[in-house]
Amino acid sequence: MRKNIVAGNWKMNNDLKATRKLVKQIRKSIKKSNLNTTRVIVAPTFVNLATAVKRSKKSKVEVAAQNMHQANSGAFTGEISAEMLKSVGVKTVILGHSERRAYFNETDALLAEKVNTALAHKLEIIFCFGEELADRKSGNEEAVVGSQIKNALFHLGSDAFKKVILAYEPVWAIGTGETASPEQAQDMHAFIRKTLADKYGNEVADSVSILYGGSVKPGNAKEIFSKPDVDGGLIGGAALNAKDFYAIISAF
Ligand code: PEP
Repeated sequence: MRKNIVAGNWKMNNDLKATRKLVKQIRKSIKKSNLNTTRVIVAPTFVNLATAVKRSKKSKVEVAAQNMHQANSGAFTGEISAEMLKSVGVKTVILGHSERRAYFNETDALLAEKVNTALAHKLEIIFCFGEELADRKSGNEEAVVGSQIKNALFHLGSDAFKKVILAYEPVWAIGTGETASPEQAQDMHAFIRKTLADKYGNEVADSVSILYGGSVKPGNAKEIFSKPDVDGGLIGGAALNAKDFYAIISAF
């Protein structure tokens, strides 16, 4: 059965001290909860990954990276490889976040390369995608989302695909305070699951967790997570506050 997942994308926030503090607070808050069916993941910035891994040991907090380079190693100044992430204990990497696509020109083709590299190094992937406002206004959201998934992921075989967590993040809802309605989220998640079923069959489609991301807050998490095809959330702003993050985790 697929797991529920709440993942916090800290983006370019939290220095070393703040990372230690937030991991500690999250650890403490989830300690007494019954989280048997929910995974909790945090994604600090690269320089604080090792500390976050260390500070989350023997707890239910898992640590993900926000990005990685597609090459194994070499002359790529300023970049971070899959092997480097693994060497500090990271097991999961976020790929394809809309900010990476928009500000760092990450295309579907490049993301397909990153996906292959991550899987070759046995990293689990949280793969993000989502339509822009103009796509939704013109009724093209399913076509856009379908092609993002197909172009970056559909070269994978079934076994490899099972190592991918999907995160549907409509660009118009990220950091804007505007959330997709629970019905909009469910409709898109159902479309995504059907797209997976058409390609890989029902067994794979039913086993892949599909997260929703875009202004999820304590006040709206419960309703969004109650939808049958929504398996959790990728959380930005609200993940920076332990109390809010815990309230979202508890929405399951
Ligand atoms: C995100 O950046 O992945 C995100 C969902 O951000 P926010 O929750 O702030 O909209």
